[in-house]
Amino acid sequence: MVSFWARQALLPAGWAADVLIEADAAGTITAVRPGAAPGTARRLGLVVPGMPNLHSHSFQRAMAGRAERRSATKDSFWTWREAMYAVVARMNPDRAEAVAAQMQMECLERGYTHLCEFHYLHHGPDGTPYAAREEMGLRQIAAAARTGMGLTLLPSLYRHGGIFGADPVPGQRPFLHDLDVYMTMMADLGRHTGPLVSLGFAPHSLRAVTPEMLAAIAAVPGLPIHIHLAEQQREVAECQAATGQSPAAWMLANGFSGPRWVFIHATHLDDAEVAGLASSGAVAGLCPQTEASLGDGIFRLPEWRGRLGIGSDSQVCLDPAQELRQLETSQRLKLEARAVATSEASPHPARKLFDAALAGGTQASGAAIGGLATGLRCDWVELDTTNADLLGLEGDAALDAWVFGPGRGVVKSVAVAGRVLVEAGQHIQARGIREGYIKAMREIWA
Ligand SMILES: [Zn+2]
Repeated sequence: MVSFWARQALLPAGWAADVLIEADAAGTITAVRPGAAPGTARRLGLVVPGMPNLHSHSFQRAMAGRAERRSATKDSFWTWREAMYAVVARMNPDRAEAVAAQMQMECLERGYTHLCEFHYLHHGPDGTPYAAREEMGLRQIAAAARTGMGLTLLPSLYRHGGIFGADPVPGQRPFLHDLDVYMTMMADLGRHTGPLVSLGFAPHSLRAVTPEMLAAIAAVPGLPIHIHLAEQQREVAECQAATGQSPAAWMLANGFSGPRWVFIHATHLDDAEVAGLASSGAVAGLCPQTEASLGDGIFRLPEWRGRLGIGSDSQVCLDPAQELRQLETSQRLKLEARAVATSEASPHPARKLFDAALAGGTQASGAAIGGLATGLRCDWVELDTTNADLLGLEGDAALDAWVFGPGRGVVKSVAVAGRVLVEAGQHIQARGIREGYIKAMREIWA
């Protein structure tokens, strides 16, 4: 058993003082007692639940910040994608694992405690499968075992190169599976799940699968289903040309929505699609920093009355506070207003967005996480209230300063399943993980 005592902690019912948190050997919370004495528990300052990162392609950490130069054509998501395919051509299992470990470590150091890894880099650069089809998936699990991060592995089904059956381009060969082989790989990976590792489905997008493949996946009960929805106007137009409907309208009309569904980049939606997807109980998977980086568009936050979560996607930002900030400030730029994500009952934008992303990210993960409460995994983040930017602040005001202030080093310590993985802002295995990453980067960019 482990126990922690927080001077102030954000519980499901709100902020509480002098909170004793106990967890069993598996890292599940067994008791949460506000107003308790610390006893022998480890003493903490201001504690919030760990945030799930609901969308990541870990290998893209190797190219983050390296695809910014102007090219001959108008730069866009599609020119960025060509640069991404070039990195894919340099990946192998060892490099992918080292890059994933670095990316997970950085996420932990900034306050993410669970990762939904949308994993589509399955094969060698020329498309040849590895001896074990699940090799690259196992490397994601190995990275998580090394960093201690919680993981929902989302092996992606990617079969085509355009809406409903277009041939893939050569750069997509490392991603491709037929449905039956994919389902076998899912079963094989299912043997490697445990308290910190679970699985979900990830049909890549309507650009990559057929309606029959979606139906086959939806017919398997239980696991969450993540799909890229409407990131770019071009894919919306292509779907409209092929089906007469936008991706969101097509998904709604064909019954592919509801609480199991996580719609990544729910960006280009009309009023009916916003209402339909939100009321279905699906999660909008938002990656505000990546969406800004790639010039995707702005999520319709004020109109969205449903669930949402945040993800690091292309890995240009690995900080949940910065994602929440971008989510709010993109609205401010669009609407020429401040404190957009607030209501009279919840006047602090950071708290309102933190609560929403925690709940939505938890739903998207399918894991027993998402708060400091009995029965959930003991994942927490301690903010450093001796940091000058947080000095004298408590509760929601401290969250605002974390999200909207200039401060660095605000995250002090982090635990997953009751195991403290970050101390004084640094991962306990930082040195070895960083060395492995630098070696991989030398090889990738040689
Ligand atoms: Zn993505």
